Amino acid sequence: MPTVPPNIASLTPYVPGKPIEEVEREYGIANVAKLASNENALGPSPKGLAAAREACAKVHLYPDGSAFYLRRALAARLGVTLEEVAVGNGSNELLELLVRTFLAEGDEALTSAHTFIVYRLAAQAHGRTCVEAPMRDHRYDLRAIHERLSRRTKLVFLANPDNPNGTYFTERELLPLLEAVPRDVLVVLDEAYVEFVAAGDFPDGLRIRRRFPNVVTCRTFSKVYGLAGLRLGYLVASPEVVGYLDRVRAPFNTSLVAQAAGVAALADDEHVARSRALVESERPFVEGGLRALGATVWPSQTNFVLAEFLGRPGKELFEALLRRGVVVRPMGGYGFPNAQRVTFGLRAENEKLLAALGEILHG
Ligand code: PMP
Repeated sequence: MPTVPPNIASLTPYVPGKPIEEVEREYGIANVAKLASNENALGPSPKGLAAAREACAKVHLYPDGSAFYLRRALAARLGVTLEEVAVGNGSNELLELLVRTFLAEGDEALTSAHTFIVYRLAAQAHGRTCVEAPMRDHRYDLRAIHERLSRRTKLVFLANPDNPNGTYFTERELLPLLEAVPRDVLVVLDEAYVEFVAAGDFPDGLRIRRRFPNVVTCRTFSKVYGLAGLRLGYLVASPEVVGYLDRVRAPFNTSLVAQAAGVAALADDEHVARSRALVESERPFVEGGLRALGATVWPSQTNFVLAEFLGRPGKELFEALLRRGVVVRPMGGYGFPNAQRVTFGLRAENEKLLAALGEILHG
């Protein structure tokens, strides 16, 4: 057996949501409602899908390594220049790439406890320390993060809104932290769910970037555009930052099919509007239904919600739901042993979830 460095040996793999096929096979059931991975319940953007199908005819060719058309479309949409946009194999790749590119030996990443686990995993895989500030009532505590800034801090990861908590921080809470962070430290606003946000005091990362050029805004095609399976994410940062990422990334890190789908999906305003409207109507329905069943839920700005069922070990409730054809995500790995994260599905899927929970919890 080859030996690996201790930081690799001690890594625990990221646990993704259970695929529908696996649940159907294991439990011998059909019509599974997958509410486990914050995917788009309406499916992919139809325009994105059509473009992807068409692009398949060209997959004997390598993709454009600079993703020119996609970056141009993103730049136009976001009001930035092409040089400020980088794309990746999901925003996940970009988060990792930031760690690989900007954390030298002895440098640290800083984030919150109980947040998206990839920040910590990426740092650890790269042999770097990730410092975690505590949360406060399931929200990012930006003062606690501020207090943990040190000379070693080189990257600050802030998920807004957060996964798995679904909560957000305001512009007023963010600005003092940005003022305190030295300009050679990158502050990454991971906005994977930004399209679902309704709160008026949510920070506009792209506008804030004009004042704080060390801000990096990271987004994805996996959620509102419904292209999670194609793997496509993007970030907006200073041309210098994008230039360094370009040197470190693999030459063809996004596929020809994903690039074509991304350009088309970006212009699919109708699908975005429908996806947002679905979340807007299902959010109060599911949150209210969960509360009525005795769960504690934290108000969400995303397409999912964290629900805590006191006295109900997460794994057991998860299994009981699986047997009834509903896949959610137990959150023990995030330090919430009694919580499930539930993605908002179609109304019928959400009804199935609430009915199954009712049966399990109250007979
Ligand atoms: N950031 C956050 C906060 C997420 O929840 C996710 C998806 N689980 C990602 C980034 C990565 O998404 P993707 O790689 O599909 O773009």
